[in-house]
Amino acid sequence: GAPRPRTVYHGGAFMTAEDVRLPASTQALHYGTGVFEGIRGYWDPTAHTLLVFRLNEHLERLQRSAAVLRLDLGHPIAELAELVLELLRRNDCRHDTYVRPMGYKLALEPGTSFGVRLSGVSSALTMSALPMGSYVDQRGVRCKVSRFRRVPTNCVPSSAKISGLYVNNALAMEDAVADGCDDAILLDLAGNVSEATTSNVFVVGRDGTVITPPATADLLPGITRASVIELLAAEAGITVVQRLVTVAELKDAAEVFLTGTGVEIAPVLSVDDVGYGGAAGPVTRKVKDLYSRVVHGELEAYRHWLTLLTLG
Ligand code: PMP
Repeated sequence: GAPRPRTVYHGGAFMTAEDVRLPASTQALHYGTGVFEGIRGYWDPTAHTLLVFRLNEHLERLQRSAAVLRLDLGHPIAELAELVLELLRRNDCRHDTYVRPMGYKLALEPGTSFGVRLSGVSSALTMSALPMGSYVDQRGVRCKVSRFRRVPTNCVPSSAKISGLYVNNALAMEDAVADGCDDAILLDLAGNVSEATTSNVFVVGRDGTVITPPATADLLPGITRASVIELLAAEAGITVVQRLVTVAELKDAAEVFLTGTGVEIAPVLSVDDVGYGGAAGPVTRKVKDLYSRVVHGELEAYRHWLTLLTLG
């Protein structure tokens, strides 16, 4: 049969996705003045329940990102969480699902000029949900060290997930794909490892040390990244060292993996012409296994990271 029309939350109401209309004057279209999140829900067919991973943490980051752009999402976090759950209910999301809330600058107030600025510009909120399985090949990805450097935090605050910033990531990705790679690893202006286009980078040294660049560096401090650091410490007795990583360390590593809501835990098979053994190494496999058990609700100690939505 014909696919059921998708329901989105837009402009204060739930509506069919095709009915969304945005004025051509929408400021975010012009200047990238929006913020967004990516949130995953994992379907548990036995319990008829969608397990939404770290919903509050994502909404808190959305609020913090919004504050950077003086965006008013119109709802406190508890209400945003309710709206996300209602969106999932209305779309009857009985499958692994990706939720994309977006806050963005709409239009300058009437009688004001068409300016590049933040205050005096109204805000809008749109949220959609779509089925999503693996976003990248879970057996591993091939990466290229990008010729595009990561926008530094003193140009655009790195801890905010700002739409316009992703021009940087899209350029890097396009260039990597043109070179036959799956993803790009961007360096900061000083030449240290920053992050991949939609994920954070972890390096396992030949001595077994697990390293990732600090949350204060020029990168988006991922919620998956924080979860992995916590899981490795508590469940594997591995303390992740948070410090800057050089390209030499990246290429000399025993294992490299990426963490992010979309990519989940993705082994890196190669960076440029350097390979890491053709398959996920032991630390990467451990992280993948822990993460998978946590998001599927199989580890009791981390059930509080999940918001349960039972769909009857
Ligand atoms: N870095 C960038 C640039 C991203 O877009 C993402 C995805 N949100 C991440 C890192 C990983 O963040 P998270 O684990 O919170 O999804």
